[in-house]
Amino acid sequence: MFFLSSEEQKKLLRYYLPKARMEGVAEELRGWNWNQAPLSPVYDTTLGVYEVAGAYCDSARDLYLRRVEKIYQPPNEAMLRGKIFHAIVARIIVNTKKLIYLYGVSAHGKIIDELNKIQLTDVINESFQKSIEALTEKEQEEIRKKGNLLLEFERDRIKARLQETLVKQPYIGEDSLAALTVPIVVEHKLDGSFLGLSRHLSTDAFHSGESMIVDLKFGEPRKFHRLTTTGYALVMEAMYEYPVNVGCLVYVSFVNNRILIHRDIHIISDELRQWFIESRDEKARLIEEEIDPGRASACSHTCPYKGHCQ
Ligand code: SF4
Repeated sequence: MFFLSSEEQKKLLRYYLPKARMEGVAEELRGWNWNQAPLSPVYDTTLGVYEVAGAYCDSARDLYLRRVEKIYQPPNEAMLRGKIFHAIVARIIVNTKKLIYLYGVSAHGKIIDELNKIQLTDVINESFQKSIEALTEKEQEEIRKKGNLLLEFERDRIKARLQETLVKQPYIGEDSLAALTVPIVVEHKLDGSFLGLSRHLSTDAFHSGESMIVDLKFGEPRKFHRLTTTGYALVMEAMYEYPVNVGCLVYVSFVNNRILIHRDIHIISDELRQWFIESRDEKARLIEEEIDPGRASACSHTCPYKGHCQ
């Protein structure tokens, strides 16, 4: 999921990164300037990046109901599916690193055997058993079918990367093998408090090889999805004081028992940064001043709050 194809890598190196350097970013919109306007938070309320970036409800009434009215709803089927699929990808990546350190370079056959043993039920039983039981049989079946496809796909990709690294590097040690096979930190924890965001943020992935924020999506592409990568880029700049210029949204879909992947690589531009900050301020105001924004222009029939808004 997280590894670019050779064409995408070429585009990143020859197009996106030079373009980002050429266009530049307004200094006041770099995360490390969190202590001055427009980045410094106006309100005390802290938000998750998903709350600032999410616009599935375009009036943000879902946010009002959750944060002001304190109405908590269980995730709908699409949300639960997304959480399980994220957990599958994270499991393969983390286990690969663990197995490399545990068995070392010479026992790479054992690493592959152990990777082959990972089952979808391991991921579901660990954190999702109760929530999945609340779904219909058909929905559960669909999640299992797609989850298994995803698991096989990701497992094969990682095994191939492991082999590719091993054939190129005869004297490699386990630390380098782990870093080259999986140059990704999944569910990277970040403190967003400098920017009026939660202290416990978690990005889907940070690609250390490319210095790029990566976010996985299992639904239809939406314009506002780029706000997620923008939010995490701003937080990384605030925390570590180095520029994060590029984001990548990975859209995964399932067609005729196959996985299709589309990667939206984009520059974290001034426009996106401004849009994120405006959305943060608007939403924090809505919570602090307890403003009910009213219904969205078009409500999805799967919105968990539909019972509260009719
Ligand atoms: S039902 Fe409509 S207005 Fe209510 S939270 Fe959902 S999308 Fe928003």
